[in-house]
Amino acid sequence: MKATIAGVLILLAASMTSRSQVKIGFEVSFTEPQAHYAEVQMDLSGLDKDYIDLKMPVWTPGSYLVREFARNIESFKASSDGKALRFEKVRKNTWRIYNNKAGQVRVNYRVYAFEISVRTAFIDESHAFLSSSGIFLYPDGMLNLPSTVQIRPYNGWKSVSTGLEPVPGKAFTYTAANFDILFDSPIEVGNQDIFEFTASGVKHEVAMYGGGNYDKERLKKDMARIVEQATAIYGENPNKHYTFIVHNFQQGGGGLEHLNSTVLGSTRDGYSDEKKYKEFLALVAHEYYHLWNVKRLRPMALGPFDYDNENYTTNLWVAEGFTSYYENKLLLRSGFSSTQQTVQNLADAISVVMNTPGSKVQSAAEASYDAWIKAYRPNENSSNSTISYYNKGEIIGMLMDIEIAKATKGKRNLDDVMNAMYDAYYKKQQRGYTDAEFKAMVEKISGISFSPFWDKYVNGTDEIEYEKYFGYAGVTAKDLYKGNQTPYLGAASKRVEGSVVITKVIRGTAAWDGGLNVNDEVLSVEGLPVEASIDKMYVITSRKPGDLITIMVRRDGLIKTIGLRLKANPNVKIEATIDPAASPEQVAVRKGWLGQ
Ligand SMILES: [Zn+2]
Repeated sequence: MKATIAGVLILLAASMTSRSQVKIGFEVSFTEPQAHYAEVQMDLSGLDKDYIDLKMPVWTPGSYLVREFARNIESFKASSDGKALRFEKVRKNTWRIYNNKAGQVRVNYRVYAFEISVRTAFIDESHAFLSSSGIFLYPDGMLNLPSTVQIRPYNGWKSVSTGLEPVPGKAFTYTAANFDILFDSPIEVGNQDIFEFTASGVKHEVAMYGGGNYDKERLKKDMARIVEQATAIYGENPNKHYTFIVHNFQQGGGGLEHLNSTVLGSTRDGYSDEKKYKEFLALVAHEYYHLWNVKRLRPMALGPFDYDNENYTTNLWVAEGFTSYYENKLLLRSGFSSTQQTVQNLADAISVVMNTPGSKVQSAAEASYDAWIKAYRPNENSSNSTISYYNKGEIIGMLMDIEIAKATKGKRNLDDVMNAMYDAYYKKQQRGYTDAEFKAMVEKISGISFSPFWDKYVNGTDEIEYEKYFGYAGVTAKDLYKGNQTPYLGAASKRVEGSVVITKVIRGTAAWDGGLNVNDEVLSVEGLPVEASIDKMYVITSRKPGDLITIMVRRDGLIKTIGLRLKANPNVKIEATIDPAASPEQVAVRKGWLGQ
């Protein structure tokens, strides 16, 4: 026994030495930013094999689509001591370099970066946004190695903003303890407007690119409130420092969470509009809440990552949906939304799910698993066949929260589940959770079985019992469209080059039953010239369900006449109101759920 253990230890020590001798340094510079290029130099030393495989991730964590970042790489070269080395591509994202035991290898390549989004790199003469998983190569099998990154800003660019650790005394030079951290640390280079605030004992940097009519002092105060409320849920903030990279565009949106930073898209002139400002704060709340939910407390498949392939999980309804749900709780607790506004926002979210025909077809668990091929690759039929795990997950979070509050007479809620999960799986076991483990924790905190709940809402497509759940918490909910007999075709249309073209046919409607097709060019409705939005035409809205409507279309160059029998619009519009006459039991549930 002793000998065996000693042998294993020697082997382990040997492999650790050989690994730890490999040193990796990157240098990123820009000679043609106007043409959207970065030049990357990668130096490896301490190599002792005949060849080394360098790889580029095919996706970026948090955005569940294979994006093939290797397609942006060109002019790849490898050398050792100034002498060119032979290399070949051995996979779509893998370069094999034959270094013949040469210890040092230098690799140079260019990356084309011209895709504006929070998860892709973009470079122009004004700045460089380096989304790291699309910029840096990694040596196969050595994801746990540290690396250094030196940025050489283009002429006139003065600042670098990133969550990476700076190397003291070296300008624009950073370290990453391993490649997961490097790939989880985007880098903004340019002349961004930088300001800071401290909240929950952590220094936060905000780096604003693109200008905008934001009020720095107001943002500092408001963002700090959100940080403090999010931190309060988990009782600790996991960061030493945190960076918000904000891209302000004419029309911008979206965000991507990272380990100790985030990238947000916003609208340059939207900060003075109260509604848009609240939306920005909701985005801040969403991405900040991800610090715990998904960046640390995570489904089993989401870390350590496989950068070569899809990483499948059935739990994005927790990772993303609950994060969307917590936007509501954080805005409420930070004082940016009232309890009444919060319940109405949630009622609106329920209406969205119920008005999506795909919610009766695809479950939250299925939507999560198929994110790679469905949510991120939508087509004209997506709303008929899929449901967003953000929207459905938000509703599941709300129903679960109320159910827990009801079961415990307002003493516990979903915060307790998230906090206990963070403690049990991220901190103690240092691994992801399974769906069964998540369910078990909900049951432990609430003291009741959640099997029927999982069957209905997680794995099933049951209609949301909103009246029942709101009722538990003393909130009256009703469908304002109930009994509505407004006739409609159930088709979306838009004007394209002077013609009106069908863009969507909704499942179960007159347009669906009668065989109207997406891409049909509509020539007339009941003999009348067509308007851009067909369902709003008086000739439709003035009829009754059951009436026959004749539509003439051009399809593939042929003219067809289609008869459609109108149906009543089945959509709901839910209104939720806090009941002033709620019983003490209901009030206790509501206080347990929303705190007020
Ligand atoms: Zn998210």
